[in-house]
Parts: sequence; C-alpha cells; structure tokens
Amino acid sequence: MVDSAAGSSAGNAAGTSVGTAQIGVTGLAVMGRNLARNFARNGFTVAIHNRSYAKTASLVDDHGDEGTFVPSESVADFVASLERPRKVVIMVKAGAPTDAVIDELVPYLEEGDIVVDAGNAHFPDTIRRENALREKGLHFVGSGVSGGEEGALLGPSIMPGGTAKSYESLGPILEKISATVDGVPCCTYVGPDGAGHFVKMVHNGIEYADMQLIAEAYDLLKQGLGASAAEIGQIFAEWNTGDLESFLIEITADVLQHVDAETGAAFVDIVLDQAEQKGTGRWTVQNGLDLGVPITGIAEATFARALSGSVPQRKAAVGTLQAHAEPWDVTDRDAFIEDVRLALYASKVVAYSQGFDQIAAASEQFGWNIDRGAMARIWRGGCIIRARFLNRITEAYERDAQLPLLLADEYFTGAVGNGVQAWRRIVAGAALHGVPTPAFSSSLAYYDGVRAERLPAALIQAQRDFFGAHTYRRTDRDGTFHTEWSLDRSEQPA
Ligand code: NAP
Repeated sequence: MVDSAAGSSAGNAAGTSVGTAQIGVTGLAVMGRNLARNFARNGFTVAIHNRSYAKTASLVDDHGDEGTFVPSESVADFVASLERPRKVVIMVKAGAPTDAVIDELVPYLEEGDIVVDAGNAHFPDTIRRENALREKGLHFVGSGVSGGEEGALLGPSIMPGGTAKSYESLGPILEKISATVDGVPCCTYVGPDGAGHFVKMVHNGIEYADMQLIAEAYDLLKQGLGASAAEIGQIFAEWNTGDLESFLIEITADVLQHVDAETGAAFVDIVLDQAEQKGTGRWTVQNGLDLGVPITGIAEATFARALSGSVPQRKAAVGTLQAHAEPWDVTDRDAFIEDVRLALYASKVVAYSQGFDQIAAASEQFGWNIDRGAMARIWRGGCIIRARFLNRITEAYERDAQLPLLLADEYFTGAVGNGVQAWRRIVAGAALHGVPTPAFSSSLAYYDGVRAERLPAALIQAQRDFFGAHTYRRTDRDGTFHTEWSLDRSEQPA
C-alpha cells in the first residue's frame, strides 16, 4: 500500500509538519530497499526516499503490496512524512555520502529526532557525527547491521549505538525486524556514540578470522588426505552437526560440493585464489594496534588475504623458494580429520577470545560499558558469524561479566584443553610438510604465550634498557631501574 506524503512541507524548512510514517529509510540500494521492505512487512508505515527517485519508484512498483510505504521525492517531503520523534535510517554508501545526507536532513529535523546511520561507517566517523548532531539536540545512532542483503530483508543482527534515550523509541522497532533466536531478538543497545559501529567492525574482523581458519582446515584436509573438494565438503557437512555448527561451516560444505557448470570441475578449483576485502578487517587490525590488544587471529587472516593478492611476490616465489618438505601422507584418515576439527575449534575460540578482548579494551577506553555476553547473544542469528557456540560465550560472560580472558572460562578451558594435543600435531605437521596455516599457528602461539608463566619479554626489556635506557622493573622488588651498561654496570633506581 502506498500513502502520499502526509503534511505538506512546502516552504517548511523548519520541518514542523507531522506525518504518519513510524520510520523512514533514505538510500534504497540493495540494503536500504530490503530494510525498508522488512519494516513494512512487520507492520510499520515506512517513509522511503532515495537521492534519485527511480529507486524509490521501483521499490513501490515491485513491493508496494508488502506493507505501507510513503514515498517522497524530496528530503523535505520525506522528513515531513514521519511521525515524531522522527526516526530516519540512512542506508547510503559509507563515507562522504553519509555526511552529505546528514547535512541535507538536519535543516528539516527537530530536537529529539533520531538519525540512524545503518551503513558500514568507521567508528571514529560515528563519534564525530554523534558529537555534531548532539549539539543540535538530535540523536545520532551509528548502527551495525550484519547479514547482507538477505539479512536486511529477513532479519539482520543489529548493533545500535547512540544514546540510551534514543533506544527507548527506536529499539522496539529495530528488535521487531531483527533476526530472533529462541524468541530473543538479535538486536540490543550496544553503548554510546561509536559503540555500535565498533562492535560491527570487530564482528567483521572475527568473520575474517573464522573464514581464514575454515580455509586453512580445507587446505589441511586437501593436502593431508589428498581429498577432493566434494569429499571435504562432506566432512564440513558432518562438522556442522556438532560444536562447529555455524552459517560459515554450512556454506563451506555447500560451496565445496558445488560443481562448475561450464567445466564440470569442483567450483572452488576454478576460482582464482586471490581474496579481496572491503576494509573492515584492516580497520579492526589497525584498532587492535592502537589499543595494544593482540588480535593475532584477525591480523593473520587479514594479512593472509593480502598475501594471496601479492601477485608479483607470489610469481617470484613459486618454483623458486625451496620447500625441503615431503608431501603429507596421512595414514589414519579418521584420526587426522578429528585432529583438524579440534584444531579448528581451538583456533576459533582464540580468535573470538581476542575479539572480545578488543571490545573490552575499547569499552574501557571510550567509556562504553559494553556487555560482551549480550554481543555474543545478538550475533547468534542474522549475521555471517552466527553459530551455535556463541551461546557458550554468552554463558561465560553471564558467569562472570568481567571475565578477563574468554579462553580462561571454565567451559572453554575444557573444550580447548581437550584438543590441545591435536592442535599441536596439526600445526607441527603443517610446518613439517610446508602447508601454510598462519591463523592455526598464530592462535596456538597465542595460546602458549598467554598461558606461559614466564615470557622472553624479560630479555626484550633488558635489551631496551641496554640501547635506549628505557628502564625495567624487577621480579623481586618494586620500582623502576636502569643499569649503567656502558659504565660500571651498576644498577640505578630510575
Ligand atoms: P551502496 O552501493 O553502498 O550505496 C548506494 C546508495 O547510496 C544509493 O542509494 C545511492 O543513491 C546512495 N548514495 C551514494 N552517494 C550518495 C550521495 N552523495 N548522496 C545521497 N545518496 C548517495 O548501497 P548498499 O550496498 O545497499 O549498502 C548501503 C550501506 O550498507 C553501505 O554503507 C554498506 O557498506 C552497508 N552494508 C552493506 C552490506 C551489503 O551486503 N551490501 C552489508 C552490510 C552493510 P543513488 O541511487 O541516487 O545513486
């Protein structure tokens, strides 16, 4: 059904007219279009607008019967068609277009209105925009939306930031259109200003790590067993019935069993082996460095994509760099498959544990007070990393909201501990046989590092004091010290 824009806005730059739409969406490319349809299908009257009217008209033509849409050609009419406090969802290309749309909207909005940026903004931009709109008496909500095109239509995972006040009226609408798991919406208030987009960024970083780990598991099975893509697809399908059950494992099984119609070859074998990225993994790693949080799984996954795309370097190395490694000739097939499964699970827990550490560090730095258990809960449905084991993460943070290390929770200590020997066999075997497993290997190194009673960092501190007088602390008494390395090597308090 189509309503005409209620309340004329002609000559109404202050935007005082009041319309009937409960929510508005501007930016009607794939994501905005589907989000608007999702609102309408859930019974909300939706104001719709796009820079060029063709997309608005096409949404009405193609899906006008799915609910009540109020199309507008101008921003003024669009704003005027909304009930107050107005709730406008911006779903345009991230970056400068988002600023341009905000600038266009603001003159028509009034105190208390809510502007939601549901695009993939970088969280520092969201902090900046929230500050600017707060000064004008407006609520700015940077919201992560995960699940791609299909999620936007059928129920995404939604991570809204901004003020708690804005969530009072916006939250129920977003919760209604989000995915649900066990009757619980995959949407909750994340925290002030940039918190929502920050959590979405880490979600995407974890997605990178998860995908890399799955790719490494596939490669291990291929090289260790000489198995075909279809056979490995069956192994993944089997894994999807246990602890590893997740959307990514499910689609991996599907992709690996898909056959290229043109050549009859396994589809995965005809795809060029250069992984691309849109940049959220890079943002996550950059932020991990800024915060000093070792998110090695996400970093290795991001660099592995970069290595795959390093074409000149790979050309120079293939057939030139010596391997000195024998092909892997696994004799006990079932035991090997189980080892890979356990190593994959353990590495995955490390990647998530690191991602949740990053959220905790940012929450502390920016004063966001993010509930990590709630984040795992809203990732259980709608998004790319949806998985059975996210329940375990929520339970861990319910046991201890301040848990310093997810890996050290009683459930994960056991679940990962049971697989440690398998993990070592796989990483050692991969090194011996020349199979690159950057994410498996770095996750095991992190595990051994974080559980070590004593690290060689002591030597690094000693070196730093030697060449730069950077000082050190001692294990046996308080204080900071410097040794006069080039003089008599006496120790001085610093
Ligand atoms: P998109 O291709 O990123 O952007 C196209 C939309 O932006 C069109 O509606 C376009 O209007 C509008 N636009 C571009 N520049 C503009 C400007 N200067 N002023 C006003 N409007 C402008 O669309 P999308 O793929 O649907 O994604 C929308 C947002 O969701 C992005 O931030 C994206 O990162 C995020 N996101 C996408 C996915 C996904 O799976 N695609 C998943 C999660 C999040 P015209 O029609 O007039 O050109």
